[in-house]
Amino acid sequence: MGKELEFRTIGKEEIADFIRQLDEMAEAMANPETKYKFQVKLKEVEFDVDREKADALGVTLPVGSIDEAERLLQEGVITPKTFVEQDETVHEIIEFQPEPVGYSGFDNCVVHSLAQTDRGLFELGRYPAMDLETQTKPWQWFIRRKIRQPKDQWGMTSGLERYTIQPEDVLTDREYQVWQRAQAGELPCPQCLDIPLSAKIIFDEDEEGQIEGLLLYCSKCGFREY
Ligand SMILES: [Zn+2]
Repeated sequence: MGKELEFRTIGKEEIADFIRQLDEMAEAMANPETKYKFQVKLKEVEFDVDREKADALGVTLPVGSIDEAERLLQEGVITPKTFVEQDETVHEIIEFQPEPVGYSGFDNCVVHSLAQTDRGLFELGRYPAMDLETQTKPWQWFIRRKIRQPKDQWGMTSGLERYTIQPEDVLTDREYQVWQRAQAGELPCPQCLDIPLSAKIIFDEDEEGQIEGLLLYCSKCGFREY
């Protein structure tokens, strides 16, 4: 049936490459300016509880299963108030949309929705993760930078519907400075020296909405730089 397994020998260079990639990723994850390009695990999520809704639904907290917790989240009985990352970075949540904007993972186990925090707009994933030590399933949450226009996704919900993502939301501080200078026409083309470079924010096409970086280009001589 179907596919044959492929075996091949991995050379030393490939292994070195792979290790280099891991190092680069670890470095990017350790940098507050670049880490949100990756999934950043949340260590803690603090919730506000709507007691009236809970009473009306006859719910007693805490609930016994992740499915039940997910239901309460979507019903607005519990609403995340604060995210704490593994490195202790804290987010105050400004707006949270519980409705899924997508699913991923094995058996679509990861629910994705959106959260606006004081550090930007994020895609928020959550799933029952297996803890090998305790053999239990904690509710694991992670965030990742989100830059797609939230208009369609936020639908009827309040303030964010009118929120337009700003370049400073999606670029690192350094990229934003470069972008600002380019907008002001302060970056002459290093190749033809004739006109200032234009700047454009580039998106990754495979992973919708994921930021790729900042492109600087010259519309005269074709110079480009990422
Ligand atoms: Zn040029």
